[in-house]
Amino acid sequence: MNVKVVKFGGSSLADAEHFAQVASIIKADPARRFVVASAPGKRSKDDIKVTDLFYECYEASRTHQNIDEIYSKIVDRYNAIIEGLGLDFDISGEFEYVKSALQHRSGRDFAASRGEYLNSLILAKYLKYDFVDAENVIFFKENGTLDAEKTNEAMRKELLQHKNAVIPGFYGVMPNGTIKTFSRGGSDITGSIVSRAVDADIYENWTDVSGCLMADPRIIDDPRPIKRVSYRELRELSYMGASVLHEDAIFPVKMANIPINIRNTNRPEDAGTMIVAENKEFDTDTVITGIAGRKGFSVITIENDMMNSEIGYGRRVLEVLENNEISFEHLPSGIDNMSVVVESKALDGRRDKVLAALNRAVHADSVTIEDGLALIATVGHGMVKYKGTAARVFNAISNAGINIRMIDQGSSEISIIVGVEEHDFDAALKAIYGEFVK
Ligand code: ADP
Ligand code: ASP
Ligand code: MG
Repeated sequence: MNVKVVKFGGSSLADAEHFAQVASIIKADPARRFVVASAPGKRSKDDIKVTDLFYECYEASRTHQNIDEIYSKIVDRYNAIIEGLGLDFDISGEFEYVKSALQHRSGRDFAASRGEYLNSLILAKYLKYDFVDAENVIFFKENGTLDAEKTNEAMRKELLQHKNAVIPGFYGVMPNGTIKTFSRGGSDITGSIVSRAVDADIYENWTDVSGCLMADPRIIDDPRPIKRVSYRELRELSYMGASVLHEDAIFPVKMANIPINIRNTNRPEDAGTMIVAENKEFDTDTVITGIAGRKGFSVITIENDMMNSEIGYGRRVLEVLENNEISFEHLPSGIDNMSVVVESKALDGRRDKVLAALNRAVHADSVTIEDGLALIATVGHGMVKYKGTAARVFNAISNAGINIRMIDQGSSEISIIVGVEEHDFDAALKAIYGEFVK
């Protein structure tokens, strides 16, 4: 039989009305057997996600403050859902247990994970589906990365025993038994893990937009939806800021060649975006598939005459970053200079140390760090087939009067990355979008 895994994001499970809508989507197709749930998200623009309330609780408890007030906000959110659905479900024991664990400082990730745990208990009860706790089936290694094979084996074995189940997103367990979460937005990864384990025909990821859009709808008005996109394109876009899907959610389904369909809970009739292994049907009209970007990067520039002829120069530079546990994003270089683009927050508290170490390692003419860089990726398999795509990106930006500070066309040829000043970010994104989408 056909099996679908469905993941619902925070905004899709923010209140009782959304729960009812989610249930109607699930019940409309018996193949939707396995459900991954997020914690209740924002009900309006100024609302607070339950996950953030849990982080606040953790902070309060850590600094020996009273958590009663924040915790009661969390309890009220869940009770409003239970009451709104008319459910006969008493989880006061769970609320007490979690509160007491928080007061005994049970860890930041444990606190955050309770958002999905409690929401999934309620959803399972409402749907009359089994509840399968992620802490028994998602395993992290000692170094904090996912133990993909152990997880897949355990998840597969467990889910074989359930016709229908709800699995909380976002967390799993460390080898010592403590709860660990993925990074923010990580319920998308859980959905992907479950899809691989049950060998799903499709992984439906239900959210509050009708698919992955060609650009961030918070910057571009009503951007065009993307019908089809490859795993690689989507990963480039999500890594660079298209926050509709966690960038690491691609890996488990990619291994099993399972397509992801991004759908809108509030508009289930919309087809959404299909994320597939290969995207041959790229949009010949727009050439590119999408644009995404992020602020918060710094450029470390090292200048030295004749750098290119000195063997081992690049390695010594990268070794300094490695010793400081800093990963780099891009490495544009010339004959007498080399730049390393890193996330600015990776330099927090280590700036002077890194500068000093670089000076020691390479005896450069100058080593500088400049902050305030935004990166924008223009992505698409179609780009290689059309001459002049890069020129169109650069012209669009310069015609908007914006200075390009860095260019990197990855060897993959599916993306062109430009760096601009952070204050030019929105305008540059609009300029590129306007160039390709008429
Ligand atoms: P969920 O709570 O369902 O996981 P998220 O908030 O994580 O939802 O992701 C959906 C949001 O991603 C959208 O509401 C939108 O604001 C944002 N977003 C950013 N870039 C894009 C994009 N290119 N396409 C669609 N949504 C995007
Ligand atoms: N609730 C978590 C977060 O807010 C995970 C998720 O929504 O995917 O980041
Ligand atoms: Mg999300």
